[in-house]
Amino acid sequence: MTSISDPSDQDREAMSHALSCAKKAQLMGEVPVGAVVIRENKIIAATYNQTITSCDPSAHAEVQALRQAAQQQKNHRLVDVTLYVTLEPCLMCLGAMIQARIQRLVFGAYDTRCGILSQQASSLQDVRLNHRFQITGGVLAEEAAQILKNFFYNVVKLT
Ligand SMILES: [Zn+2]
Repeated sequence: MTSISDPSDQDREAMSHALSCAKKAQLMGEVPVGAVVIRENKIIAATYNQTITSCDPSAHAEVQALRQAAQQQKNHRLVDVTLYVTLEPCLMCLGAMIQARIQRLVFGAYDTRCGILSQQASSLQDVRLNHRFQITGGVLAEEAAQILKNFFYNVVKLT
């Protein structure tokens, strides 16, 4: 879980797709976070946060994307995929990625409140994990953060 790699053009392209998914979430009144799963240069899942519309606290974009990808692959292990998500994952989603045995995670904006990687990376190294994967953070981070800022600004204005 410690190896960090630089983003490629493909990373930026996939993240851009995840950002369009985040915009769909926003139209649904959901916190705008989007995710895509890539395997062998193909998108096998593309979805977004749906906790409110699904009445499901586990329906974060990453969990939705892993479910979709696993069903598409007919396999609960996703050993050769890269998961792209517009916001740094929370503890639950990190757990789901470990369960799925993903190969790599690429995320957009850093989440200083609930993000599990940037804030608690050192403590994570002490946790016994049975799977580790590559992580690249901060890809198209400004755009990803701006979508969230706009959303929360509008929510505050409405209440
Ligand atoms: Zn999450």
